[in-house]
Amino acid sequence: MSTETPLDLKKTINLPKTAFAQKANLAQSEPVRLEKWNKLDLYHLIRRAGEGRPKFILHDGPPYANADIHLGTAMNKILKDFIVKSRTMMGYDSPYVPGYDCHGLPIETHVEKALEKKGKKKTDLSAETFRRICREHAENALKSQTRDFKRLGILGEWDNPYLTMSNHYEAETARMFARFVERGWVYKGARPVYWCIRDQTALAEAEVEYHQHASPSVYVKFPLQSDPALIDPALAGRKVFVVIWTTTPWTLPANLGIAVHPDFEYAAFENGDEVFIVASELVEAVSAKCGLGEPKVIARFPGSRLDRLECRHAWLDRRSLLMVGEHVTLGGESDAETELDVSEAQKKTDGKAGTGCVHTAPGHGHDDFVIGKRYGLEIYCPVDNAGRFTPEVEHFAGQRVFDANDGIVEFMRERGVLLFSEKYDHRYPHCWRCKNPVIFRATPQWFIAMDQVNRDVVEKDEDGRDLTNFTDNLSETPARSLRATAIAETERVKWIPAWGVDRMRNMLKGRPDWCVSRQRVWGVNIPVFYCAQCNDAVADPVVINYVADIFEKESGDAWYTHDAKDLLPEGFTCKGCGAQEWTKERDILDVWFDSGTSSVAVLENRPELRWPADVYLEGGDQFRGWFNSSLMVGIAAHDRAPYDTVVTHGWTLDAQGRAMHKSAGNAIEPDKVIKQSGAEIIRLWCASSNYFDDMRGSDETFQRVMDGYRKLRNTARFALGNLDGFDPERDSVAVEEMEEIDRWALAELNRVTKEVWAAYEAYEFHNVYRALYSFATVTLSARYFDIIKDRLYTFAPRNKARRSAQTVLLQIGDALARMLGPILVFTADEIWENLPDRKEESIHLALLPTTSDENHDALLVEWERLYAIRDEVLRALEEARVAKRIGSSLEAKVILNASGSALELLQKHQKDLRYLFIVSQVELGNLGADAGVSITITGADGTKCERCWNYSTRVGESETYPTVCERCVAALKEIEGGE
Ligand SMILES: [Zn+2]
Ligand SMILES: [Zn+2]
Ligand SMILES: [Zn+2]
Repeated sequence: MSTETPLDLKKTINLPKTAFAQKANLAQSEPVRLEKWNKLDLYHLIRRAGEGRPKFILHDGPPYANADIHLGTAMNKILKDFIVKSRTMMGYDSPYVPGYDCHGLPIETHVEKALEKKGKKKTDLSAETFRRICREHAENALKSQTRDFKRLGILGEWDNPYLTMSNHYEAETARMFARFVERGWVYKGARPVYWCIRDQTALAEAEVEYHQHASPSVYVKFPLQSDPALIDPALAGRKVFVVIWTTTPWTLPANLGIAVHPDFEYAAFENGDEVFIVASELVEAVSAKCGLGEPKVIARFPGSRLDRLECRHAWLDRRSLLMVGEHVTLGGESDAETELDVSEAQKKTDGKAGTGCVHTAPGHGHDDFVIGKRYGLEIYCPVDNAGRFTPEVEHFAGQRVFDANDGIVEFMRERGVLLFSEKYDHRYPHCWRCKNPVIFRATPQWFIAMDQVNRDVVEKDEDGRDLTNFTDNLSETPARSLRATAIAETERVKWIPAWGVDRMRNMLKGRPDWCVSRQRVWGVNIPVFYCAQCNDAVADPVVINYVADIFEKESGDAWYTHDAKDLLPEGFTCKGCGAQEWTKERDILDVWFDSGTSSVAVLENRPELRWPADVYLEGGDQFRGWFNSSLMVGIAAHDRAPYDTVVTHGWTLDAQGRAMHKSAGNAIEPDKVIKQSGAEIIRLWCASSNYFDDMRGSDETFQRVMDGYRKLRNTARFALGNLDGFDPERDSVAVEEMEEIDRWALAELNRVTKEVWAAYEAYEFHNVYRALYSFATVTLSARYFDIIKDRLYTFAPRNKARRSAQTVLLQIGDALARMLGPILVFTADEIWENLPDRKEESIHLALLPTTSDENHDALLVEWERLYAIRDEVLRALEEARVAKRIGSSLEAKVILNASGSALELLQKHQKDLRYLFIVSQVELGNLGADAGVSITITGADGTKCERCWNYSTRVGESETYPTVCERCVAALKEIEGGE
């Protein structure tokens, strides 16, 4: 044996080598990469690369510029980033202009509280000063949110986002209001709206939240004043009462009527010398509840029989009119949905617990208002801004309505008109801001009519101003109402998930007119003037656009810094009385009007965007919110929805399905995750969960996500590590010359690439993750990589079979980087950087991998069969290992006996089998009859090769390399000869 040239065998092994570290250190590496992108001006490089490509527009719903971001805000922006980046990589030009919602109550409240701490009141400041402080607060908040969003790896026009408080945007908001006026859809009138008695302002549907609330439930009897014989002869001369049920006793002083369903059957039953009327179906239930004993029904009749008869109020000297309405319900589900308003929510529960006779206070409920109008009742609302009864309310004047409830119940008990009362738990609307229960209250407000404008409601406002003048430009017969167009558009739009269409349609069907005025300061003022002489209101599109041009130059503050005459065209004269003195409307527009305007203000005003957008993506709370207000604005502007697809995401919840709250200690704070594990982990969590449902987040979930991340990273690292020294130009092997298993891996890659494309197209990011995760862990890690390791490590570096595997590894690494690009924005870029042939500066300038339509089914099926046999062999090897018959699998020989097609398959792949099973030898035998495959494991023949650790009977044959096997001898000769 020769020992003259001691060869270090270890050095002849091709060990993986790459700068792509095993440990990610994302918390440290992400900021470095962000800085690099910043220097590159990556976002604008992507814009330039996309020039001329078809556009794909995701329009950003503006988050509220008030607080720091939480996991839900992060998730929302990350999902949008997935869409923008995946569409970019599909070959679209997909610019992303983020926005911020800057006006409104939450900021006002925040600033008021800050002032209070300094011992100041809002009223100590001028409106301009107060607005300046609000503006500064919004600016600070949006700066900090921008920093956080950028840190999450979200690319966009961060230096130039849209702000609803910018001069241009405020002007566009005013112009949009002019457009609504022009369409004849704006009116001012007294209608019941949600009203927060703490914040003393009207609230939009989207500004209330439903929470459990305990209300007093009362059954009250109203004496019939009309002749009972008109209902049924059996009632002649009796003392008859109509029984109502309500959970808002405080609205009883405003009761002006009782509604029954015209087609339901009602019954009169005796209780002593009194007779009670309720719906037939509810006689037993009401009687039992009120402890009236076995009811004796003496008459039955349809509800229509009661129409226009009169009761007396339960205690006031006033009539209560009996009316018929289709809105009255009996039984049915009491699933108070969030879209329902107070009266509807109440009616639903009325059905379950009620009497079929609905207490009606037109000043305190939507249905009440509608039926009250129909019967000519007054829209009576004896409750002031602070929720106190006005002086005209006998016995209870000055009391706050919720405090008055108990007193009213006691009062009715003493008067003997109360049949029963109890505490009643139900879902009740609360103010989104201060979390207090809201009331429904009629006040003079500006409305956008969902149906045609009802001139009846256009009356005089609280100061006696005549509001009918400006309505002259109302279209008499609008071709289609806002509601009808909105519903038609809803049917056309694609909703993901599909239930969105029902949710939106139902919301639109039931929603009352849109109350757009707010009694607040921080927003865009409603640009309407009142004649100082005759009080005529001027809501004129020409005038509003004139004001908007001033807003454009000076911001909406101009409403406060100028007198009315300076905001009107010169010499503007009142049509009614010829006067030229004006006062300004004090109310501002609903913030949902602001944000709803965004499609027009942003998409139509930025050259890189276009109207309409392809897609909107927001949480389920936006059906009543931004999806809705955007739809209204789109229709006013262009008779069309501003979006073609609307995607809805769920809520972020903790592991037990509870909402996350800092105070509850169950909140996952993005900032903390970023500092500990990196933004990538939050992004991967977003991709790994099905966001169409609520998304659970806990330390444990995030731990699992990190495990997933490690697996994906290790997969990429294996590919990169084995590409050391591979020059694609020089070394690539043509597909037809590849080893069959390499062709199989490419076919699998093609299959998964198609899956990933489809999942990105359908916005199903969890399916992108699932496909890639299973590709990485099963197809690659457990199969392909495991099997080709021997070839990669022990063959001569330039051996064609090794180059064949490397050619595939390059394609896998390249494709993984591209497919992960929209999700793992940092890691994919890092993979990209370490590939030998990357062309673009960043993965975010590259496209998704292309796919081939070539049919590989036969190959895939054949290899699936081989893997099935392999699984059995691996199991047998494991048993042998446990029984200590072998150590590593290379110490084993596998003897396979098979027959028929299985034998044929194994024979065809005979030379690959030892690599497939990672053993030193495989023997094939014919089992004869059709009996599947039998597996025997024995020790391998020969001795262990010092270089590759396989066993061979031929170790020692070579004099030059006496300790290695025949394969290694060949490899070493190749190495020495070739390098
Ligand atoms: Zn409130
Ligand atoms: Zn006038
Ligand atoms: Zn060897």
